[in-house]
Order: sequence, then structure tokens, then C-alpha cells
Amino acid sequence: MDIEQFRKEGYKAIDAICEYYAGLEQRPVVAQVEPGYLSKLVPNEVPEKGEPFPSIAADFQRLILPGITSWQHPSFFAYFPSNATFEGMLADLYASSVTNPGFNWACSPACTELESVVMDWAAKMLGLDEAFLVQSGVGGGVIQTSASDSALVAIVAARSAFLHAHPNVSPSDLLIYGTSQTHSLGAKAALILGLNFKALEVYPTYQYGLRGSTLQKAILEDRQKGKHPFVLIATLGTTSTGAIDCMPEIGPIAKEAGLWMHVDAAWAGITLSCPEYREKAYLKDINLHADSFCTNFHKWGLTNFDLSALWVRSRTKLTDALDVTPAFLRTKQSDAGMVIDYRNWQLSLGRKFRSIKLWFVLRSYGVEGLRAHIRKSVALATHFADFVQESSIFELCTPQSFALAVFRLAPKDVETPLTQDQLNGLNRTLFHKIAARSDITITQTDVLGMFCLRLAVGAQRTEERHIRRAWEIISTAGVEVWADYQAGKPVPVENGTH
Ligand SMILES: *Cc1c(COP(=O)(O)O)cnc(C)c1O
Repeated sequence: MDIEQFRKEGYKAIDAICEYYAGLEQRPVVAQVEPGYLSKLVPNEVPEKGEPFPSIAADFQRLILPGITSWQHPSFFAYFPSNATFEGMLADLYASSVTNPGFNWACSPACTELESVVMDWAAKMLGLDEAFLVQSGVGGGVIQTSASDSALVAIVAARSAFLHAHPNVSPSDLLIYGTSQTHSLGAKAALILGLNFKALEVYPTYQYGLRGSTLQKAILEDRQKGKHPFVLIATLGTTSTGAIDCMPEIGPIAKEAGLWMHVDAAWAGITLSCPEYREKAYLKDINLHADSFCTNFHKWGLTNFDLSALWVRSRTKLTDALDVTPAFLRTKQSDAGMVIDYRNWQLSLGRKFRSIKLWFVLRSYGVEGLRAHIRKSVALATHFADFVQESSIFELCTPQSFALAVFRLAPKDVETPLTQDQLNGLNRTLFHKIAARSDITITQTDVLGMFCLRLAVGAQRTEERHIRRAWEIISTAGVEVWADYQAGKPVPVENGTH
């Protein structure tokens, strides 16, 4: 492809993207294809001769789009949002046009320097302590691929610092602490690092957030057994219910016990951009006690996947653990300590130029625009939660957390109260009924044995009418499931939540 062909095909690509977005609401939310659909439609081998680009682009429409679930659809309420903006798309295009492996400053100085600048911008926007700024010269921010990577990097740094301070401790006695609600990234990090992950108990009475007393007790008991907890993954907004660990209690205990506290705020961290949520999100305690903090701008932060923001209080703890500099990677700027080589702040060597996405998005929306997006999502979720609470057959399973509502069918005023198994059966049936539809998508979760449905708001195009429609669909299905149950139709037996 030469420059003139690129110009032509590039314009056509943008036109096709615009058409997709213009017709988004009429498309199915969830891809309506069966497993293996694509391999039946594409050849088994690389074509021997190059093909004309227009037919390649046409196949994106013909073969790929039908297999795409539209996460930007206004009725996408599953998992957590994965925002995409036109600003982010254009940034990716520009980044891709100057592609480079970015492992050190010299690869393309702008990539490193922009990352430091926008990570400081973002830290200030979220209200993070100055210690987390690159400007501080001590801590700093780095863009990772995912929250799982961010946690892994933090845990590697924590382990290295801990073993350095306690040279006689055997790595096999180390413990990573999280809770039963911690994202699977905790268990996965343990698996990768050959360490043990311990899930501390959480309770409905504190809405599934970790309490200080539980942490304190675990530390004492594990130490008596000769174990060494060295890192605590605290969560601001769990995946299942949006629970928040009690940072004011656990922060000082973790610090006192010498545990590195990593705050996983992959989804909810972005709410810190709004001053009114900072108290609920324990910003003050995070600023006092967290050693590292992660939030994904690629979830609810208007930035196209991938952009996981990780901030650490001590950059040398990262580089002490991760700096491997063979002679061929040395540069005079790094040797002089004048620049950051971000490869030493992450697991891999090469890295994408991602900061440009955040730069474009933050400049185009401004803090005001991002806040408006967050506030609107929360207000819409509240609207949905109100419907649930006004209904006589539904209930919220946990209080609404930011833009997430966790609820279930639980008819009130019945003669014999239903058992947990019966309720789980009803809700599983309800979930399958909704999952069979193509015009809306929600997800399920298991909250300590309780089968619940989750509705997460956060797509940019969701409006009040989509929330009303979602409630109409869900409540109608709920009425049917309940009527069937009362008429004696069998309910599927308990068989786990998946
Ligand atoms: C989404 C999410 C994760 C996983 O994020 P990845 O970036 O996909 O690794 C981890 N923790 C929480 C709380 C999340 O919401």
C-alpha cells in the first residue's frame, strides 16, 4: 500500500467506523455466532499471493463484525464498561503510525516524557498524594496493560523489598493477602510467582469489604504458623458487588505489620475524579497508606483498551526488583540518571505508546467532561436501583456501588419464605431468560452462595430510556419466572452459578 492508497483506504475505514456507530443501537448487543463460526468462513492457510485491500476491509464487515459484541452499545450492562472514544481511536492511529518498542527513553523520547506528564495529570485529577507523582522524583506513575499486570508488578516489587529486608525468610513462607472478593488477579499472581494467596473472610454486615479486625487476626495467626504475609491487595470496588475494603482500618494495620498495600481500583478508581466520591472511596486513607494504586482508564475512563494506570510511592522499589540492564540497552541519559526507562517499571521489555490516548482523551473532555460521564452513569444506575427497590418481587443484594446494581428476584409477602436454593434456582432461570436476548446484556455473580444479577452502567451512549427499557425487560421476565414457579413449573436444581 502506498501513501495515496492509504489515504483512500484510511478515509473509507473512518467512514465505515462512523456507519457502525451511527447504527449501533440497531445492532445486537451480543455477537450472535456459535463457537467456531469463523474458521468455517476463512481459509486454512495464509494466501500465497497478496490480496487487494478493499476485499480485506470488506471482510471486516462481512466476517468480523458479526462476531463482535458491542461494548459501546447503550444497552451493554455486563461486567464493567470498556469505554471507547473517537479521541482514543485517533490517538491509537497516531501512535501506531510512529510505532516503536518504547523500552527506553531513547527509543522515542516523546513516548516516555508524555507518559510521565499525563500520569501526573491523572494522579492530580484523582487527588492522589504528591508522593505518587513522577514530579516528586520518588514515586511515579506508569501505564500497564491491565490491572492484573499492575498487581503483578506491585507484588514483584513488594516481594523483592520484603526479602531484601528479611534475608532469612524462605520465599515458600510468603503470603499474598486478599479477600474472597479480590479479583482473581491475586490468585493468578500467586500462581505465576510460586507464592501462596490467602483469601481473608468478608461479611455481608460490612457489605463484603475487609475489616481491620479480620486482617489483624490473620496476621497474628499466620505469623504464629511461621508464615510471612508481605502484601495486601485491597480493593476499591470489587468486581462482584463493588465492595470497598475498609481502608481506614486496614491501612494502618498493614503499615504497622510491614505489608505493602496495593489498592486495586481497576473499575472504581476513576470515581476519585469527582470530589463528592472521595470520602466514600477512602481517598484520604489511600493517600496515607497505599504503596501502590491502580485504576484502569480503559474501563470507565473514556479511554480505549488498553490503559491501566499504576502509581507507586517508591519507584526504586520497582526498579530494584525489575531493572535488568544489559550493555546493549545502556544509554548515556539513563546512566546519568536523567531519564526514566519505563521497561524497568514493568514486566516486559517493549511497550506500546499508550499515553497519547490518555492525553487526547483528557484534553478533549477535560476534567469536567470526565466527571460528567461518571456522574451520569451513577445517576442512571441509581435510577435502576430505584426501580428494583420499588418492586415487590425484586431486591438489591447489596447497596448500589457507584454505577453498579446487584439485585435478584426475591418475592416479598409470600406465605412460606423461599430457601436460598429456591431463590438461586429462580434467579438462574431469570438470568438464562435474559441472556438469551440479543438486545441487552447483563452478568451474573455469586455473592457468598447467593446467585445475583449485575447491571453495570458506564457506556457513553446509555440514556435514561435504555435504563427504563432494561427494567421493563428484566421485570417482565421476573414476573414470568415467578408466575411459572407459583404454577408449579420445575426450577432448575442447584448446580453452581456458571
Ligand atoms: C476489571 C477488574 C480487574 C481486572 O482488570 P484487567 O485489567 O482485565 O486485569 C481487576 N480488579 C478489579 C477490581 C476489576 O474491576
